[in-house]
Amino acid sequence: TPSKEGKMFIKALFDYDPNEDKAIPCKEAGLSFKKGDILQIMSQDDATWWQAKHEGDANPRAGLIPSKHFQERRLALRRPEVLVQPLKVSNRKSSGFRRSFRLSRKDKKTNKSMYECKKSDQYDTADVPTYEEVTPYRRQMNENYRLVVLVGPVGVGLNELKRKLLISDTQHYGVTVPHTTRPRRSQESDGVEYVFISKHLFETDVQNNKFIEYGEYKNNYYGTSIDSVRSVLAKNKVCLLDVQPHTVKHLRTLEFKPYVIFIKPPSIERLRETRKNAKIISSRDDQGAAKPFTEEDFQEMIKSAQIMESQYGHLFDKTIVNDDLTMAFNELKTTFDKLETDTHWVPVSWLH
Ligand code: 5GP
Repeated sequence: TPSKEGKMFIKALFDYDPNEDKAIPCKEAGLSFKKGDILQIMSQDDATWWQAKHEGDANPRAGLIPSKHFQERRLALRRPEVLVQPLKVSNRKSSGFRRSFRLSRKDKKTNKSMYECKKSDQYDTADVPTYEEVTPYRRQMNENYRLVVLVGPVGVGLNELKRKLLISDTQHYGVTVPHTTRPRRSQESDGVEYVFISKHLFETDVQNNKFIEYGEYKNNYYGTSIDSVRSVLAKNKVCLLDVQPHTVKHLRTLEFKPYVIFIKPPSIERLRETRKNAKIISSRDDQGAAKPFTEEDFQEMIKSAQIMESQYGHLFDKTIVNDDLTMAFNELKTTFDKLETDTHWVPVSWLH
């Protein structure tokens, strides 16, 4: 399906260097690109080697890139390598949970225990990321705002950034109200801190795929429903959501048009300098109490960021390094402003 005056564009979901490709018929004819680059397809006549150029490149000369089919096939063959590293990430939202869960159609079909823990997120690598056909998109005045998903490792400062954004314009930004099965505390109101529901209803809702994510904490369920995102968007607000990266692919629909921002830690040296006196809510701490960062926390943060990037990097629309909080916040703010005014590349499937 060609877009924009019959032109076809794809987003590269992997890095490519023809000089390191043993299969390419002629290295000089190859086009190198990075994950996230937008390429214009000039020819798909050959089943193995497409001709493409970088979007907006005035030079009319096209280069060779592996076709989707060819790349998928050889990536799939190499899959065992990709899978050596198990994903061990948790974000602060789920901190304190003994296990983390995810919804998948498979759970339903096999009718396995509904709360069975998924061993890792390795399966997500099974859909080998190659290219995605994209098209330019700009939000129209009467349209809802896009859902903005923030992902990042524990302790990177995602919640601080989210809070700063919220208080910078409470009319414009909104967050979801989670559901819980625990009893309401006296100072809480239904629909404000949480939506309080019965265990039975929660379980039914899980079966009916009503949750984006959910978990168990001290014998109660907690979760974020899809409808809670809808209700923020329906108020004509930008909905800010922080979830684990594996949930992102379930949210990538025409309805939400999620814009995914990865909050990345700076170098370990900068972490030591900037987080010296800061505190972390450790994922190992069931009480969720804040403790000073340890060297281990820093290493864990860097490692988990690397894993997130390598497994889910192709889903990130933007990466912001949270070195200095104020600077990261300003960059985030600029990103949001641009999101509302500029043209962005989105999957073609969203616009049909
Ligand atoms: P509390 O019962 O003290 O309000 O919260 C207990 C725990 O539930 C906290 O660690 C909090 O982070 C977690 N929690 C709150 N909302 C959600 C949610 O929507 N999803 C998940 N997975 N955990 C949540």
